[in-house]
Amino acid sequence: MKKLLEVKDLSISFDTYGAEVQAVRNISFHLDEKETLAIVGESGSGKSVTAQSLMRLVPMPPGKFVGGSIIFDGEDITQKSEKQMESIRGKDISMIFQDPMTSLNPTMTVGKQIAEGLIKHQNLSKKAAHDRGVELLKLVGIPNPEARIKQYPHQYSGGMRQRAMIAIALACNPKILIADEPTTALDVTIQAQILDLMRELQDKTGTAIILITHDLGVVANAASRVAVMYGGKIVETGTVDEIFYNPKHPYTWGLLGSMPKLDAEGEELQAIPGSPPDLADPPKGCPFVTRCPYAMKVCEQHMPDYKELSSTQKTACWLLDERAPDVEPPESAIVGGTEVHG
Ligand code: SF4
Repeated sequence: MKKLLEVKDLSISFDTYGAEVQAVRNISFHLDEKETLAIVGESGSGKSVTAQSLMRLVPMPPGKFVGGSIIFDGEDITQKSEKQMESIRGKDISMIFQDPMTSLNPTMTVGKQIAEGLIKHQNLSKKAAHDRGVELLKLVGIPNPEARIKQYPHQYSGGMRQRAMIAIALACNPKILIADEPTTALDVTIQAQILDLMRELQDKTGTAIILITHDLGVVANAASRVAVMYGGKIVETGTVDEIFYNPKHPYTWGLLGSMPKLDAEGEELQAIPGSPPDLADPPKGCPFVTRCPYAMKVCEQHMPDYKELSSTQKTACWLLDERAPDVEPPESAIVGGTEVHG
């Protein structure tokens, strides 16, 4: 499979009054053509800053590019001018955001918002852009698209607004679609519909997707590979099956343990005790050290290297060192029952 995007050693910080917040610290990952990569982690793990940096949407200042590269189509996005980025955003890489109510323009009809990108990037006439807009609304399952295209976002329901956002993002047939918590603001049944829709559209258009989420449950049916982020770092990557059935990082165990289970009626949900590290003063060694029940002396001082467990799974944890004690994942992290499909 051809690599579409390759991020190498990327670091992004924010200058604040008191200190430099190291939001993303030396991360590397890639995205293949037509695949869905999920980036999973809790709030403050750096996943949204990572997503925004791929489109150079991190406000600078206070944001600061510290180092690394983002290679797309053979060229480094971090070196592009703002003008060059304008022709990439929306055309080659586009994004759907968490809350469509705040990302859609309330003063413009949905039709105009779809047409904007088509007129700019594909030189379509107003009429052709309108017709394509109707087609796109139909494609994302909005009933009566001829009438709906003339309406404003507030006239749409929450699920329809997210569908409209997807239509805008897909208007110019981007090679990469970044979906930042696309279903968080929606209720559960609409969440499932939107994820199904994204999968269906991916089959039709071949667009590769980066799915940003805090919810491993969303990942199981939507992604083929997963990168688990914690404290600004990627701590484990693997296929969906590897992350669900053979996770090796204690933070991944914690995430799996905190997922609601169908066969655990009445049992309390397991939270990971403690809170994420302060990225203005991150731990010297492993970022999970203050919450990890298996932490050892070495974890405080030194960040573990990645250990390659297969051609697709890599984990950064001292427990994988040959000198470390044998530790089995807790019962709560063992996924049973139905098979996970990527
Ligand atoms: Fe826990 Fe140490 Fe592994 Fe970090 S490196 S997850 S602290 S055992």
